[in-house]
Amino acid sequence: MAAAVQPVSDRGLLLGGDVVDGTDLRPVLNPADGTLVARYAAATSADVDRAVADAHERGRAWTLLHPDERARILRRGAEAIREHVDEIARVLTLEQGKPLPDSVKEILFGASVFEYYAEEGRRVHGSLRPTASAGTMSMVSYHPVGVVAGIVPWNYPVDLYAWKVAPALAAGCPVVVKPPEEAPLAIGMVSRLLVDAGLPPGALADLPGGADVGRRLAAHPDIALVTATCSTATGKAIMRAAAEHLTRVSLELGGHCPLVVLPDADLELAARAAARRSFSNMGQICIAVNRVIVLDGVADAFVDALRSEVAAYVLGDPSVPGVGYGPCTTAQVVEKARSHVADAVARGAQLVIGGSEPDGEQFAAGHYFLPTVLDHVPSDALVMTEETFGPVLAVHRVSTIGEAIAVANATDYGLAAYVYGEDLGQALAVAEQIEAGGVGVNVNDVSELQAPFGGWKQSGLGRELGPEGLHAYLETRHTKVRRPAIAVDR
Ligand code: NAD
Repeated sequence: MAAAVQPVSDRGLLLGGDVVDGTDLRPVLNPADGTLVARYAAATSADVDRAVADAHERGRAWTLLHPDERARILRRGAEAIREHVDEIARVLTLEQGKPLPDSVKEILFGASVFEYYAEEGRRVHGSLRPTASAGTMSMVSYHPVGVVAGIVPWNYPVDLYAWKVAPALAAGCPVVVKPPEEAPLAIGMVSRLLVDAGLPPGALADLPGGADVGRRLAAHPDIALVTATCSTATGKAIMRAAAEHLTRVSLELGGHCPLVVLPDADLELAARAAARRSFSNMGQICIAVNRVIVLDGVADAFVDALRSEVAAYVLGDPSVPGVGYGPCTTAQVVEKARSHVADAVARGAQLVIGGSEPDGEQFAAGHYFLPTVLDHVPSDALVMTEETFGPVLAVHRVSTIGEAIAVANATDYGLAAYVYGEDLGQALAVAEQIEAGGVGVNVNDVSELQAPFGGWKQSGLGRELGPEGLHAYLETRHTKVRRPAIAVDR
């Protein structure tokens, strides 16, 4: 007999170190079939004000704690996340729609982010600088920026929560987080584990809700820094709201990432890498490949390889073993994918594979869309100019490498880019010409725990991960001191 599956608990607000029942309970629906996963309590503006005040009052205990003790608590939190990975992954898959192994991978990466920053936070070193006038010394030191607001999207909720909360706490900053309303449940479990690991009251609040809660946080006079992962339009709105009090911002925004296939690329490898980076999490990744830019001479062979790769994908219920690709998280993603496909085809693009919702009763109630490849996509198609944030990949053919670079850079975004070619010198030379915060050369991922992640141009401001991810939460102080002369005769 199969073991009974535990129902997922409703979640409240995490406020003042306790879970508080809210009055406004809202449903979280499973994107695979539309059923209720659980409900979450939506935060109000008054909850935001209470959490920010508490972060200033009781959260100060966290700021004053020795960095070694903060590190111990964060490491305990990371261990607890690892111990509970299967429970959290099940909930993440139910609310967000990614296949179970991808949820496990996301949560384990989140745990390693807490471990990394636990250590990094112990090594915030100041320095002595040379001075122009004799008898003076200049000391440079770093200090927690203050109470941080973290705004998290639904595509990688646990990871992107960890990218913000771990370095902010490690730097000594109390944090008020707003998880996304589409996927607030797994984050709620992680927040509880961190509090149980020993965070003092006021160090971490977790207030799920919609854009209104985010707006309240971004405009709050007592927030020192807003860190948000969101669309570029939302990032601009946050920046405008934050400007009122000159609140610091760190923004990870949209992308529209090119993958350039050079004439000497290993086409099988490049096709597999492009497909995975385009359709993993159903394309709902800021660093997803949106546009493949391929040289004419190898384009036919590359597109054939891409077709074969995608044809082998198994789409289905993401909780079922063996399924590699699940539903999109929201109906809006499906709608945008459909409209980008229709627009490209109307402008002369050829449909290679996919292009619609899948057939079959099992898909009828979910937000499914087939992984879709379009070839001969003209530069003015929406899919070439706007982030789809869904399972659609455009192939654009060019006749020179110079043209490939120009097309890759013909966008306001500059988050990530990928270059495939066997002559590494040539591939690196192309990579150097691309305007992006992260470039993968013969590799389809630019997120790396110890390296900075972030965008050029309208893809963001600031960096997460690596030492830069911690420094985002620190203010710099220069203290200049006049020393008394040494009393040599005394
Ligand atoms: P979104 O901008 O609609 O929402 C993101 C978060 O911001 C949500 O929690 C939402 O409630 C909140 N929000 C919305 N309006 C707000 C406002 N005016 N003030 C404050 N908060 C507000 O984005 P989404 O659809 O949830 O996420 C997808 C977007 O995020 C894509 O554009 C994607 O590229 C981007 N993203 C970027 C990165 C990165 O690291 N650069 C990573 C993942 C996702």
